[in-house]
Amino acid sequence: MRVLVTERHLEHTSEPTLRDLSEALIAVYGTDYGLHSPTWISRFTDMTRQAAAYRDGRVLLAGDAAHVHPPEGGQGLNLGVQDAVNLGWKLAQVVKRTSPESLLDTYHAERHPVAARVLRKTMAQIPLRRRDDRNKALAETMSELLSMDEPRKRFAAMMSGLDIQYDLGEGHALGRRMPDLDLVTADGPLRVFTLLHDARPVLLNLDEPGGLDISPWADRVQLIDAEYVGTWELPVLGAVPAPTAVLIRPDGYVAWVGDRTPLGLHDALTTWFGPPTAA
Ligand SMILES: Cc1cc2nc3c(=O)[nH]c(=O)nc-3n(C[C@H](O)[C@H](O)[C@H](O)COP(=O)(O)OP(=O)(O)OC[C@H]3O[C@@H](n4cnc5c(N)ncnc54)[C@H](O)[C@@H]3O)c2cc1C
Repeated sequence: MRVLVTERHLEHTSEPTLRDLSEALIAVYGTDYGLHSPTWISRFTDMTRQAAAYRDGRVLLAGDAAHVHPPEGGQGLNLGVQDAVNLGWKLAQVVKRTSPESLLDTYHAERHPVAARVLRKTMAQIPLRRRDDRNKALAETMSELLSMDEPRKRFAAMMSGLDIQYDLGEGHALGRRMPDLDLVTADGPLRVFTLLHDARPVLLNLDEPGGLDISPWADRVQLIDAEYVGTWELPVLGAVPAPTAVLIRPDGYVAWVGDRTPLGLHDALTTWFGPPTAA
């Protein structure tokens, strides 16, 4: 059983007790229904805050330390975990000195706008919870809107974080989460996400095998020749033409897209995974 009560005034700052909950229930229903043995009691508000900077020198913020918002849509955990996944591999490369410290600034640049959007969208949902006539009318209007396929698809992709596109340039797939394609390789069938289990970057060559040379990064980047038949399905966008090669970061985002030419590949490798190793 889960009970959610709204307090009229923001006067409590301490942890809530069973007695507080019992009194709140009695105030509304005239009884606390014999409430006992709670497993968890918590107090939260619609507080909406974000740190101005996610990085200051050696101090980095992620998760609720970087952003808090009302729990509408259950987005906080995903947001925080994605912060950590975005930051983890960058931090490792800077610590190992394969990348310059400036790589850490891309963490704020990429993740701050994502949380800012969640904060805006969860704030916008607060009136939907209020039960006066005007807000009820607003809630009904939103329900109508979300009964339509296109708005529902967009909101679902937004709330799940699957529509995120980091600003890495023009292109359907660039800056987006790599789809989990079923590939065929010389060693048999393979799912893209299994390649990411080692948390190492992957260059996926879907064109003629052996067409891409990344030997100066071979110690850091896995090069996989594979075949994929068909178009790609991306959240919200739907089917998009399949590129001939993609560079996938350890957090699963596409850092470079090839179209029968390696143009820009070495720049992307240097930007994300450090300068080439001398032969
Ligand atoms: C009512 C409610 C419902 C929610 N529902 C959902 C949901 O359905 N889905 C969802 O995704 N999210 C939900 N969230 C949000 C989610 O709980 C948070 O976004 C998530 O737990 C944040 O994780 P975190 O690791 O960043 O921070 P926290 O979970 O707050 O972890 C921080 C940890 O650091 C510890 N700590 C603090 N200070 C120190 C210190 N000085 N030294 C050592 N340790 C310290 C704390 O004790 C704590 O364990 C909900 C939140 C609320 C309030």
